[in-house]
Amino acid sequence: MNERYSRQVLFDGIGKSGQEKLLSSSVLIVGCGALGASHAEMLSRAGVGKLRIVDRDFVEFTNLQRQTLFNEEDAEFRIPKAAAAKHRIGEINSGIEVEALVADVNNSNVESFLEGCDVVLDGTDNFQIRYLLNDACVKNNKIWIYGAAVSSYGTTMTIIPGETPCLRCIFEEMPDAGSSPTCDTAGVIMPIIASISSVQVSEVIKLLVGKRDELHGSLMQIDVWANDWRKIKLAGPQPDCPACRKRSFEFLDAGSVEFAAVLCGRNAVQVAPPRPTDLDLDHLASKLCMIAAVTQNEYLLRFSPNEHEITVFKDGRAIVKGTDDVSVARSLYAKYIGS
Ligand SMILES: [Zn+2]
Repeated sequence: MNERYSRQVLFDGIGKSGQEKLLSSSVLIVGCGALGASHAEMLSRAGVGKLRIVDRDFVEFTNLQRQTLFNEEDAEFRIPKAAAAKHRIGEINSGIEVEALVADVNNSNVESFLEGCDVVLDGTDNFQIRYLLNDACVKNNKIWIYGAAVSSYGTTMTIIPGETPCLRCIFEEMPDAGSSPTCDTAGVIMPIIASISSVQVSEVIKLLVGKRDELHGSLMQIDVWANDWRKIKLAGPQPDCPACRKRSFEFLDAGSVEFAAVLCGRNAVQVAPPRPTDLDLDHLASKLCMIAAVTQNEYLLRFSPNEHEITVFKDGRAIVKGTDDVSVARSLYAKYIGS
């Protein structure tokens, strides 16, 4: 046993056998923003053998106040978060394996990300992906740990399909777009991120070492500014839950992947290709450099025609900054990238 884990092995709840279980475990982290980056750092230091990190975004300077794995260089070069996380974790613990996937999670790929993972951790920042994740995890009988934080408050719940309520048992309908505060509209402070992530990661460790009796078994709500910590005890699943009882997976079975989505509060729209794609960025850059200056790394390219800034990822997605009008973004996509 590597001496780096000695203090954790001394802890009664884990011990030598628990540490061995952690080293042979695999965790999926969906979203590597503030919560996801915190999950990834804690799990890598704890020696979870394999982390699969999926994120669609790149590092920006506004992230650095709370997203602990990233630094100024990542923001300057706008490195994709999954790739920046893998690089930094390699410096923290070279003994574990990290798979970094720069991708948008949608109904056509979410189940493939679950494959081979023991537990799924929510590091996302929106309900669209959480409802999709709930469908995918319930259908595939995977435990997932919901977590959300904004402003100074946050919520978390551990979802064991068939045993505990699922996300739709608690919140049957997804909140309307624009109805909930986001980190871009209401702000967020780092202590709530660390608090919610700590509860989520503790639950993962308990699950991986086989200590299910220690799970908190509640909808936990924390407000670090109002000094309010509460646990709402949960019973079993709702008898009429569409997902975990009726096994109707509306979000997973949605006919088509949403082609474009406004990124709330950012004056930007994400446009996805209709089918999975592997773009030749060099080729695209050679075309676009006739129109505007292009900056590029191995994951993405960026150019600014007129007042918009367009970032194109290898998987064919684009983030169009400078508009919140989906039709404008689609038309720029069609114009410069083509679909
Ligand atoms: Zn349910």
